[in-house]
Parts: sequence; structure tokens; C-alpha cells
Amino acid sequence: MSIQFACPSCRNPIEVDDAWASGNVACPYCRNTVLAPATSTYLHSGEIPQACEISHPGAASAGRNVVAIVALALSCLWVAGFVSAMAIVATPLQEALGDNPTAEQLQSFLQEQANAASPASWIVSFGVAFMVAGAAWIAGLVCAIIGVSQRRRRGFAIAAFAVLSAGPILFCAGLVLGP
Ligand SMILES: [Zn+2]
Repeated sequence: MSIQFACPSCRNPIEVDDAWASGNVACPYCRNTVLAPATSTYLHSGEIPQACEISHPGAASAGRNVVAIVALALSCLWVAGFVSAMAIVATPLQEALGDNPTAEQLQSFLQEQANAASPASWIVSFGVAFMVAGAAWIAGLVCAIIGVSQRRRRGFAIAAFAVLSAGPILFCAGLVLGP
């Protein structure tokens, strides 16, 4: 069942699901937030555009910006992947190259390890953690952009952006501080 009514703002006929009786909805024509009536006040047999349901006293979850929450979760996964990749690689690197290896030493050592016929287990774990971090970063960025583009509760998406931006900052810092 649905409730059909004329938008109080622009008078166009719109339709909402029963669950949105007496709730705030966005009119598909004029984009104004209007209050849906408790029952149909407009009787029409043809197709009526659906109003967007934007808030309802009885449906708290409808107002959540789920994509933004996913974005924040992915950005945390990125941090976890990055930190574990660094933790995995720290000990073998220190054993092989000492405390202050140059970037060239690092690169050739990692390349050597990655190209070895039977790579050490730590390089496999490092690769997996690195790929998980990379995939989470890209997916998190996409979700954060979608989350920010939704016009409600963008806090999580903005927090996700902040966490994700640490990636390029670290990368650039590495380039600047490197040789
Ligand atoms: Zn309207």
C-alpha cells in the first residue's frame, strides 16, 4: 500500500510507502521537504512518482548515511593493512639491511625477495597486507565521495577522507624524505 497526496508546496501528485505516513519526505518535483499525510488524500489511478523518504520518527536508520559508515570502516581497514604491512616487513628488513638502509637497498632487496623462486612467508604476508590496504584505500575513497555527495550525516565520510588522506601524505613524505 502507498499514500498518494498532492505536494503542499508545488501541488504535483506524489506517492510514498505506507511506512512514511506522517513522515517528512522530499518532493521529486520541487525538492522541498514536505509532510506526508497519514492516509491518501489524492486518488489517482496512473503512475505517480515516488517521493524520496528522508526522515521518519519511527525509522531512525533511514537517516543514516550507510555509505559514509562503510567508507570510514574501509579507511580503518586501510590503516590496519598499512600498519600490518609495515610491521611484517620491519623485522626481516632490519635483519637483512641493518637500521638505516637506503631507498635503493630497500627496493632491490624487496624486488629480490618478490622475484625469488620460493619467496619467504613474510614477503607473501606483506604482499597480501599491502594489497588489502590498497584495495581498501580505493574502495574507501569511492565510498567517501558517495557519502559526501549524500546530503545528510556526512561526518563519517569526512572522517574517512581525513584517514584516507594520510595515504598520499605518507607517500609524498616518503618521496620528500627519501634520497
Ligand atoms: Zn513539490
